[in-house]
Amino acid sequence: MPDTALSPERRLVTAIPGPRSLELHARKEAAVSSGIGVMLPVYAVAAGGGVLVDVDGNSLIDLGSGIAVTTVGNAHPRVAAAVARQAQAFTHTCFMVTPYDGYVEVCEALNRLTPGDHEKRSALFNSGAEAVENAVKIARTHTRRQAVVVFDHAYHGRTNLTMAMTAKNMPYKHGFGPFANEVYRAPMSYPFRDEGLSGPAAAARAIDVIDKQVGAGNLAAVVIEPIQGEGGFVAPAPGFLPVLAQWCSDNGVVFVADEVQTGFARTGDLFACDHEGVVPDLVVTAKGIAGGLPLAAVTGRAEIMDAPHAGGLGGTYGGNPVACAAALAVIETIEADGLVARAAAIGARLTERLTAIQARDPRLGDVRGRGAMIAVELVDPATGEPDAELTRRVATAAHAQGLVVLSCGTWGNVLRFLPPLDITDALLDEAFDVLAAIFEETR
Ligand code: PMP
Repeated sequence: MPDTALSPERRLVTAIPGPRSLELHARKEAAVSSGIGVMLPVYAVAAGGGVLVDVDGNSLIDLGSGIAVTTVGNAHPRVAAAVARQAQAFTHTCFMVTPYDGYVEVCEALNRLTPGDHEKRSALFNSGAEAVENAVKIARTHTRRQAVVVFDHAYHGRTNLTMAMTAKNMPYKHGFGPFANEVYRAPMSYPFRDEGLSGPAAAARAIDVIDKQVGAGNLAAVVIEPIQGEGGFVAPAPGFLPVLAQWCSDNGVVFVADEVQTGFARTGDLFACDHEGVVPDLVVTAKGIAGGLPLAAVTGRAEIMDAPHAGGLGGTYGGNPVACAAALAVIETIEADGLVARAAAIGARLTERLTAIQARDPRLGDVRGRGAMIAVELVDPATGEPDAELTRRVATAAHAQGLVVLSCGTWGNVLRFLPPLDITDALLDEAFDVLAAIFEETR
């Protein structure tokens, strides 16, 4: 039997993926729809403390957190204990049938922690996409308007409405239409590709498109990721979000922040909107909220959240008691372990390492992001054109050397780093030594 013990180290005992992973992957190919892709067919047996151990006994450094989910750490002891306790008490009743206090407590915590000190309400769901859909439903009943504005490079999910809201065709939308209507797209502030356009100027450009092509009187909601996730960690120029939020407020449009990827300490603030003091009408959360258990939420102004008729929102599993117990443990852990500050410190460290590589290598066009949500956009230095091929080669080499790194971006040319916040500085330094060497070798 391979040694599959969890210890905070990078340990390669076979090729990546190893023989047992390959055996499992052959079974996956025969049993699982090929529509479910796998980035790195390394089959996990344990994870935590910034590493992921596979069936062959390899220990990989986790720079992805399962796409920004295990922010407090994988199988964090506080979360694991809360889940075990709740699972032994009861696993489900359906909150809409016979409720329980965990659900209420999570909503109270969200109402307390999300931006703004106005009166709030929350509702719980299962996935980011489901919560985004519900935010749109709530905004539509509140405003009695139908249109929804989203942005270039946006990602909001894979359900029918959220596919329409997502910008990128492959792989998210191709062949899956027709899509929901009344969804309109405005230009994003993308500092690296905007040629010096200021945040307020980029907001004016977006507002002009919205005014001319939709009309505020038809518009229920503007939905935006305060830092775009799948779209390439695009952080809008300062001033973009505040101007947009103010315009929404002036025009009776519900301003919805999709903080599914940016929420819960990830960006070095509890929520990314906090960075510029933006107070959204509704905030959508998921991913980092429950340490890997499926949970999502919409939180916002009481008068907006209470607009739908009783029974209009809900679902069998939304706010499952085990997921709620995990969320309460996550929130306690963020506060107890000082994880907001830890995310900021990780951000400073990663930015320093990446800008040092960038100083020697102009293919690293842009290092950006905040907190433990940092990315590098790779380009042809002569033309600034996106270099997806280089991104693929660097990611493949990193995987082979035991780093779990993800890529993203409209052009597939962004490497993104989303480490769990319980990772050690030593592991981060080792990971970036390996990456620096890969950039040297990948010419
Ligand atoms: N919104 C954003 C900003 C996301 O990053 C994601 C997931 N990557 C979603 C929505 C959809 O979340 P889920 O996969 O849980 O449906």
